Amino acid sequence: MKATYRAMQIAQAGILELVERVTPMPGDDEVLLAVEACGICGADIADIDRANPALQPPRVPGHEIVGRIVALGARVPALWKPGQRVGVGRLGGHCNACAQCRRGQFQLCENQPFVGSTCDGGYAEAMVVRATALVAIPPELAAEEAAPLLCAGIATFNALRNYAGNANPVIGRRSDSLVAAHNGNAGLVGQKNRQIYPL
Ligand SMILES: [Zn+2]
Ligand SMILES: [Zn+2]
Repeated sequence: MKATYRAMQIAQAGILELVERVTPMPGDDEVLLAVEACGICGADIADIDRANPALQPPRVPGHEIVGRIVALGARVPALWKPGQRVGVGRLGGHCNACAQCRRGQFQLCENQPFVGSTCDGGYAEAMVVRATALVAIPPELAAEEAAPLLCAGIATFNALRNYAGNANPVIGRRSDSLVAAHNGNAGLVGQKNRQIYPL
């Protein structure tokens, strides 16, 4: 990978700027990715406009990322290999150490960065991310098709999956109805999920 990479970063509220950055080395639990594609999510608007108070510029937005592993930190499991295609969503990787992680509730990790908000995201040629944030992407799936699945896709898929077969863990029974009202990316990907995952 080149010594520098291009990124679109939030300079101030509502302003994206193209910058050239020094390519970082991954930390012990991180990987360096060459980004192949990054979806555009409605939450990016809040990030870019700084409606999200957690975001401190300069910050690279984007949390629907497909890329290829370029370098790995010393403690990254052998599961992940150089050249492998992977995806990254909004959750930037759990810590494996906090109380929630020890209960196996990784999505509730108390030390988890949010990609594109509290750590840099995918509007860039490269990015560093915790290995615990990665999912494998099969080679037959094009990067631009896979990227929206990392946020809008998983959200709508889980809604359909829980509706279709599983008792709702909160209310203790299967839902009687599912109503989807979303005009953005989630709505479109949800319709696709509905086609391939009939109830
Ligand atoms: Zn999103
Ligand atoms: Zn944790």
